Amino acid sequence: MKALVKEKAEPGLWLADVPEPTIGPGDVLIKVLRTGICGTDLHIRAWDGWAQQAIRTPLVVGHEFVGEVVDTGRDVTDIKTGDRVSGEGHLVCGKCRNCLAGRRHLCRATVGLGVGRDGAFAEYVALPATNVWVHRVPVDLDVAAIFDPFGNAVHTALSFPLVGEDVLITGAGPIGLMAAAVARHAGARNVVITDVSEERLDLARKVGVSLALNVSDATIAEGQRELGLREGFDIGLEMSGRPEAMRDMIANMTHGGRIAMLGLPAEEFPVDWARIVTSMITVKGIYGREMFETWYAMSVLLEGGLDLAPVITGRYSHRDFEAAFADAASGRGGKVILDWTA
Ligand SMILES: [Zn+2]
Repeated sequence: MKALVKEKAEPGLWLADVPEPTIGPGDVLIKVLRTGICGTDLHIRAWDGWAQQAIRTPLVVGHEFVGEVVDTGRDVTDIKTGDRVSGEGHLVCGKCRNCLAGRRHLCRATVGLGVGRDGAFAEYVALPATNVWVHRVPVDLDVAAIFDPFGNAVHTALSFPLVGEDVLITGAGPIGLMAAAVARHAGARNVVITDVSEERLDLARKVGVSLALNVSDATIAEGQRELGLREGFDIGLEMSGRPEAMRDMIANMTHGGRIAMLGLPAEEFPVDWARIVTSMITVKGIYGREMFETWYAMSVLLEGGLDLAPVITGRYSHRDFEAAFADAASGRGGKVILDWTA
């Protein structure tokens, strides 16, 4: 089968012929229909410092996908051939304290699909049935392809109750945009999002934010004044991993404010801990999705009318992966989809 492979320890990806994956008794074989390009895939393609220490070649990359079940192992009883499915990209150990307690998203020994084992940018992918999410209600294929990052957005946005609250989101990449849509849908009063890309801020306006702020020419404090906020933001969703964004967020939170942090910083950086203490701010790290409470939330949010269409801005055949990756790496658009059937 065709797959996008990290063949060599150098920048680039290669569309190569690899053997079809085989399945064990508890696994499901899935014909991949569409995939989403994630920041993780961009790191692997660029072969940066993180990728060099995290990836062993050769590796089929990718973890965001939707597909159709074509075969199931003999122990799989609740998933059938023909089911439309997406996959949870974190494979957990099932044995550690958190796994045994049902908190699988907190597993100490998570293996990432397309990072620690062969992934989904291929014509077929095999997954344990316990990692497969069946779409019981029809979902647009492009949206189904990005359930994994949509889950990051939902997990982050719904970490703290936000009904009637003023929410600040730093970073209007695809996950920030989806989190803004979720916060809006879930009943936040104001949703303010920041970025330095006007294209991305325009996408944020399409998902209905109260204010899309370009922080290269306005401050978050000015944004607060524009909206008439008097005491700061109640909830912060940090999506950029940038030190200046985190510092600015901390400086603009109300007393008792709560910050959920999904953006992954490239290195350590100082923040004003005295401000965190005296403003009594909670900071919660988010990695991945709750299995499978977040997945349930995603499905019912879509059924309830949440619209992610503005977030998807690029669609390519898998053969045009170079153009698709360049689009995703530009930092200007939303989510980029690869079609494995075209
Ligand atoms: Zn575990």
